[in-house]
Amino acid sequence: MDSGAGACLGRRKKDADLTAPDPLTPRTDTSPDADTPAGPPATALRRALRVLADPWTMLILKEIFNGTRRFVVMQRALNIPKQTLSLRLTTLCHEQMLYRRFAGPGQGVLEYAPTAKTYDLADAMYAIWLWHQANPDDADILPFEIVHKQCGHVLGAQYCCTACGEPATGASVTVERSQPEQFESGPRPRLARRNDASFTAAAPQAGGLVAASLVGDLPCNEILYLLFQGPRHMLAIAAELGLGANVVRDRLDKLRALGLIREEAQGRKLLYSVLPRAEGFFPLLLAIAEWGDRWCNEGQPPPDPRRHACGAILRGRYRCDHCGDWLTRDALLIRPRGGA
Ligand SMILES: [Zn+2]
Ligand SMILES: [Zn+2]
Repeated sequence: MDSGAGACLGRRKKDADLTAPDPLTPRTDTSPDADTPAGPPATALRRALRVLADPWTMLILKEIFNGTRRFVVMQRALNIPKQTLSLRLTTLCHEQMLYRRFAGPGQGVLEYAPTAKTYDLADAMYAIWLWHQANPDDADILPFEIVHKQCGHVLGAQYCCTACGEPATGASVTVERSQPEQFESGPRPRLARRNDASFTAAAPQAGGLVAASLVGDLPCNEILYLLFQGPRHMLAIAAELGLGANVVRDRLDKLRALGLIREEAQGRKLLYSVLPRAEGFFPLLLAIAEWGDRWCNEGQPPPDPRRHACGAILRGRYRCDHCGDWLTRDALLIRPRGGA
């Protein structure tokens, strides 16, 4: 298993690396000892979010998962400006998440079809849906429901470790560092603008999709991911993520307003930690990080393997609350809310 390599590297002592380079760990330009680290420690989450962290991208992918293939249908469903949609679809094709094909009568209709890389993001999509299902304030904005065909129940599911079958929770997952440690190189991706005027004006109903729009914001996700690893002060968060204090403060305020984190005074400093409501968000981060390990590492080992309490490197999947089966895409039915 490729994640096994990350596990072994995670335990390796640094002096061993110096004398005997591991064949599994090819030296690259981004090798940390080649130069001074160019940026903060690399994480699978950040690599994945370089592709996904855009306010519209997750919403477009949600439409794709619901079966939408045509530009005009997508544009109408999301009420997204044409040029914005066109740019995002071009990017998703470039990332090999979608491909163009012609279909329909006379094969004259252009469609955007998902690749395996997109289908592999299914767990993150379920995570968004399940989060909203579990937070009824927002449930009325979900126009469809997911049914597990095997048992006939509307989906309730937990993200579990495939090695032992037990849930992967904030308390049962430890984030490690592969050796040699990998650092972020190159410029930071442009930060998604949370108040992108076209986004908030055109899609108020989409703006209500808290989980999907949070995924669209890279710093929010990185901060949550870090706080799941333990409480932090604001400046520690800023330093660890290589973000400006003002960006961190802004996102901490947003996450507090969403009831995902709390702030408490510790001496003269403020300490931030995750609230129980955020626990439902953790599988989303894990699913995206695991997707990043599979598709975004460009030949390098997973930078921050996540270890489950059972001792295995986490490979998580959802299992149905009702029948206990592991979820597969074929076993799920998407239908309009309340439909038969
Ligand atoms: Zn386990
Ligand atoms: Zn079931």
